[in-house]
Amino acid sequence: MRYAETGFNLEVDLTRGGIERVATDPRETELYLGGLGTNARILWDRVPPEVEPFSPDNLLIFAAGLLCGTPATGCNRTIVSTISPQTRLMAFSMMGGFWAPELKYAGYDKVILRGKSPNLVYLWINNDKVEIRDASHLQGKGAVETEELIRHELNEPKAQVAAIGLAGENRVFFASIEQGRSSASRGGIGAVMGDKGLKAIAVRGTGDINIARPEEFLELCNGVLEYIKVREENPIPGVMPILAGLGSPQEMRIHDEKWHTESFMWGNSRHRRKGFWTEEVEKAWTQTLENARTRLISCYNCPMKCAATISMPGVKTYMMKCFSKLTYTMAAMSDLDFGLKIAQHATEYGVDAFSTPQVMAFALELYENGILTEDDMTGLPSENEKRFYWLLDRIVRREGIGDVLANGTYWAAKEIGKGAEEYAHNNIKKHEQLPLKLSMLNPIYFLMYSTGEKINITQIEGQFPQMPFPTREEREEFVKDWFQVPDEKFKQYFLDWELRGENSFPYYPTVEMCCDIVDWQERMHYIDDALGMCSGLSSFPLKPPYHIHNYPKFISSGAGIDMDEAKLTQATKRYRTLVRAVNIRRGMRRKDEKPPENHWKKRFPELETKLLDEYYKLKGWNQEGIPTQEALHELDLDYVSEDFIQRGILTDGEDSPAKEASSGTEAK
Ligand code: SF4
Repeated sequence: MRYAETGFNLEVDLTRGGIERVATDPRETELYLGGLGTNARILWDRVPPEVEPFSPDNLLIFAAGLLCGTPATGCNRTIVSTISPQTRLMAFSMMGGFWAPELKYAGYDKVILRGKSPNLVYLWINNDKVEIRDASHLQGKGAVETEELIRHELNEPKAQVAAIGLAGENRVFFASIEQGRSSASRGGIGAVMGDKGLKAIAVRGTGDINIARPEEFLELCNGVLEYIKVREENPIPGVMPILAGLGSPQEMRIHDEKWHTESFMWGNSRHRRKGFWTEEVEKAWTQTLENARTRLISCYNCPMKCAATISMPGVKTYMMKCFSKLTYTMAAMSDLDFGLKIAQHATEYGVDAFSTPQVMAFALELYENGILTEDDMTGLPSENEKRFYWLLDRIVRREGIGDVLANGTYWAAKEIGKGAEEYAHNNIKKHEQLPLKLSMLNPIYFLMYSTGEKINITQIEGQFPQMPFPTREEREEFVKDWFQVPDEKFKQYFLDWELRGENSFPYYPTVEMCCDIVDWQERMHYIDDALGMCSGLSSFPLKPPYHIHNYPKFISSGAGIDMDEAKLTQATKRYRTLVRAVNIRRGMRRKDEKPPENHWKKRFPELETKLLDEYYKLKGWNQEGIPTQEALHELDLDYVSEDFIQRGILTDGEDSPAKEASSGTEAK
């Protein structure tokens, strides 16, 4: 018997209209867990590097994490994997909401889509009845609107629907997949869905999931719920309010936006507005949000209520969470009222709330600087906010200049030329990043930004405080009940970390400590992405209820896989390395692993080189960032070595020498 997972995937060939229920190999679960882990294995096996993102041979995988559908609180993530049109690397975007547990109850762990449908269709999974249905009447419909229309058409109000909007249909490189109260936004996965001619996947499941040792598992779940209560009653002192508790940053609940509005950049990630957050602004924005927010809401099986339904006058109610509250406002140098209104349009169009505002602000900056001309922008309104609506409409329709901008700032700048590349200044691996420009190099974030392959906006931060606490007493207080650390040494790293002086940035934490910290943080994020756990209860907040010490017990008692911390660490390393292998095979190298030049004013090239050198070593990668033959062997990934050797990426028996020196040129 299979536990926690169903043991079946749904394989759908959209070209031929074929649907197959395929049994999976339990040994793969032991090696790669599930969710992201097994997605990486499938992409490695079935999507060779020659396959372009918009090829029918590219796969689009919707995976429910290993523990989704079990009573584990907050375990509801769908992990969507494909080859991204924007980065040309593996994308693995997560969405919360309700879809993944529903898929499990319908009897499947993953939906694997290949080919392309000649007409727009949607997939209807109703337990063991699965059909591809015509969606021509849904063409051009909004993503949320589509969800409602499909539920109505199927007469199944409990169906969970993941859908794309116009942006996905038109293959906008930053198109999202929207679902219930969540979305999978990064990497342009909605564009791949649109390219496949798939408007939506509706799912309804009424089956059960088996738990290996239910009593033990439920006891663990109750422990988590109790701990959540304790943490909610005891927010961490000295940490900004949106991060002091658990869950996603509590932007819908908390009104204090001093930190975001004064630390993050406005416009095309250009302007820092110190002193912006006055009493007057706070009052006005608090009122705007309180009037707009009709209800705080949660994802499946979670008490945290990180999201809210938003109703603005003249605009249909929609769902919002997290920093998307501010992205449009800040890009347009406008106010919260504008941001909350335009976000509704953007959600229906189905676009990433982080990339889209940046792309529009980038276009306006090019226009102001004469790189885009009147001819390019014929009809552009004179009023600032209207310009954003105008650009959004053109981008999602790929009309005129919108067709160029729809490829994101990196590719648009290349196409526009005339120095436009200087203005696409906020990318890593060809993807828009958080609009932050800081002073002193942060070595921990340097490593996260450089080596991250998830392209999530919060990077892989979370387990270790973002900044030192001002006094030793505060730090001592913090470490007292910090039982989540995988090793006591992390407490000492934190205790000795000062805001100023010898033990401060950029040389403290030391290179070795930074590598340890980033490795731990990344491990936790990757575990979540395989299990389907919301990072808001695990890898993202400080002192979370899920951690390296209780996760093995959840896996053992839930999935019936004999697990301990060492085994879990090894499994995570295995599929994390496999994600890198997929990307290495697609041309990613050390030269791609760099934060934007202007992310920090004070840079330390020698230190940065050392950080990357040492981190690569710790991860078992050579100086080009390629996993070594030895490391691959230790992880049972010899098939990757063989492929690398065959392709000339590695030379048999020669791991260490770099194949090419680090350079500033771009990989394809
Ligand atoms: S913590 Fe928040 S984002 Fe995460 S599952 Fe719960 S409600 Fe959803």
